[in-house]
Parts: sequence; structure tokens; C-alpha cells
Amino acid sequence: MKRRTGQDRSVTRNWKPATQAVRGGTARSEWGETSEAMFLTSGYAYDCAGDAAARFAGEQAGMTYSRLQNPTVEMLEERIALLEGAEACRTMATGMAAMTAAILCQVSAGDHIVQGRAAFGSCRWLTDSLLPRFGVETTIVDARDPQQFQDAIRPNTKVFFFETPANPTMDVVDLEAVCAIARKHGITTVVDNAFATPALQRPLEFGADVVAYSATKMMDGQGRVLAGAVTGSSAFINDVLLPFTRNTGPTLSPFNAWVVLKGMETLDLRIHRQSENALKVGSFLEKRVPKVNFPALPSHPQHNLFMRQMAAAGPIFSFEVDGGRKQAHALLDALELVDISNNIGDSRSLMTHPSSTTHSSVAEEKRLEMGVTEGMLRLNVGLEDAEDVIADLDQALRAAGL
Ligand SMILES: *Cc1c(COP(=O)(O)O)cnc(C)c1O
Repeated sequence: MKRRTGQDRSVTRNWKPATQAVRGGTARSEWGETSEAMFLTSGYAYDCAGDAAARFAGEQAGMTYSRLQNPTVEMLEERIALLEGAEACRTMATGMAAMTAAILCQVSAGDHIVQGRAAFGSCRWLTDSLLPRFGVETTIVDARDPQQFQDAIRPNTKVFFFETPANPTMDVVDLEAVCAIARKHGITTVVDNAFATPALQRPLEFGADVVAYSATKMMDGQGRVLAGAVTGSSAFINDVLLPFTRNTGPTLSPFNAWVVLKGMETLDLRIHRQSENALKVGSFLEKRVPKVNFPALPSHPQHNLFMRQMAAAGPIFSFEVDGGRKQAHALLDALELVDISNNIGDSRSLMTHPSSTTHSSVAEEKRLEMGVTEGMLRLNVGLEDAEDVIADLDQALRAAGL
């Protein structure tokens, strides 16, 4: 019967990650379905008016409205929390909803944020354009150097916000060093862990406070739905994040939650195979283009730090050609197997030119300061046979004069 109504954390948290990925969070209905059910309902009915009142007062367990709770969504939240080793998780409609909520829920006018220079374009828009309108200032640092975080601290610094590895330059942040600086000053670290996922890197183990995700990427992993997640302590999730998200409503749909639940079952398998493929493709490209930004390659200056923090390479890296946007676009246009697409974490190999797509909303001088050059291309290596991907790149490189 216990299996039908839910799970006991004291048991599930001791499961190995492979077990958590398949069974974590499963709560069965009275039908005893093996695969998690999809509860497409916006509301819930009560046996009597007193029950409704008690649930709204928080005196009775149960659900009231799907902006606040949904069984399918809660199953995914529990699965991600278990894999992350976090006390709590809340999912969001998209990765950007997750990043926005994780930051906005805890800052007020007069606060200050320190952010890594290399970041997803919209994460930079958040701090460059949105937060200043509400009196929150940001200092941008080269996140590869922990000292720069230390030096940027002001009395009103509230949050360190960074990605590792970062999109699309693949800058690696020393999690242990930067989180220790934050702890010492009572600053909250928010780590965007979309590239690694808990399958490869668990920032909480290095002292991070909040880990946020675009679950659109490796967690769904098959390019189907948008989703996001924020994980952390129960105190942060329940007392700081929830009041913000319950009332502003960036809620994940139960359908999308179900798709990501299915994706999580195969996350570990996919990310390790894609990592192997990415290493093969990265080693090939290293011999053909002037610069490959892939810390999993032994030649990369941050290789040792990367290997200390990550269990495998991950599927994503970038590389640079000398001929700027013209040559980068020519290479993309010559691809036959790899798709021109700005998504990542898909089981298909995809390539994009960040400066004209994902980072086009970032002002040009900021883009260059981030290290996003006109000749940079970002590659997501999929589950195809790596030899086919390499053959396609080989012919496209030649077509682009490389
Ligand atoms: C894709 C991405 C996001 C945004 O996620 P969406 O699901 O597209 O909203 C944020 N951060 C990183 C690092 C990403 O790759």
C-alpha cells in the first residue's frame, strides 16, 4: 500500500542514483499503474466545505489548485530533488522561469549581485536589463577566477549567480572556492547547472545553496518540451521561492512534467553516451580548427578542475573558426546530418552560431567581453554514431574552406 500513496524519503534518499532516476517520486493512484500517471487537472474537488477551508488554511494535506500543486508535477519534483541530493525542488514552465524566480524571489531594490561573465543570453538580459529597473545592480566577473568574486563583494551583495560549464564559452567555475567565499559573507549562490545535470555534477556537494535548471535540455533530452527546476534547502524553497512562484505562476504543466519524468529515466544512459560521442568529435575538431572550448579535452587549461567537478564530458562544447560570422555560417550551411538548431541536450546533434542566435540579445561589446566571438559555433553532440557526425563535420569544414 505504501507504494500506492507515495514514498518514504528515509528510504528513497538511500537509493543509488540509477534507482532514483527510474523510481524516485513515483506515487501510484488506486489503479496501481506502473508508469507515472498524467494528471491533467487544474483543480481538485473536496468532500465538504470544511475540507476546502482546512486545505486552504494548510491544516489538511492535499491539493487545491494546479498553480500550487499537481500530482504529476510533484512526482518530477521529488525525482529531481533526490537526484540532486537536495531537500526540496520546485519545477517551472521553462529554464528562464526557473532562473528568474530563483533570483527575483530573494532580491529587493538596493541589493547587489555578482554574475559570471559567460552566461546564457537571457540570464545576462535578466541582470543587464531587467534587474536595474528595480534597483538591483550586478557586477560581472570572469568566473574562472574565484578572487574576482571576492573582490566584487559589497556590503549589499546578496547573490552569486553563475553557470558551470558556461554557455557557450565553456568557462568552468571552481565551485568549492566560490561557494566558500559566498558562505563566509552570507551570500546565496545560485548555480545554473543545465549543461551538467545532477547526473554529472552536484553543486550542493561543493557548497552551493541553490541549483537551477533548464530541464528542456538534458533532462527531457529528446527536444520535446520546455521545463525548468529550482532545487535547494526546504527553508529556501518553501519560505523564499514558494511565496514568489505561488503568486506569480510560472508553473510547469502536468503534461510537460510527465514528459520530463520519462526523460529522467534515461538521463544517465544518454548523458554518458553523448559525452563519449562529444569527446570523439571534440578530439577530431581539435585537429581541424584553431580553437576548441571543451574542458573535457586534456589540452584545455581548465581540464583538471573540470574533471574534479564533473563525472563525464557532457554533450556540449564550442569551437572557433578564424573567418568570423561568414565562415561560421558557411560551415553551418554545409551540414547535412547535424541540424542548424539553437537547442541543446537533444539526442540529435545540433549546431548554432551563438552571436547571431542565442546571444544576439546581448550587446556586441558585452558579447565580446563574455568571449562569444563572431567565429564561435556551439555543438550539441547527440546519440547518433559519432563516426557519422565526424564525417558530416569533415565535409562541412572542407566546404567552408577549413
Ligand atoms: C537553455 C538554457 C536556459 C534557459 O532555459 P529555457 O528552458 O530555454 O528557458 C538557461 N540557462 C542555460 C545554461 C541554458 O542552456
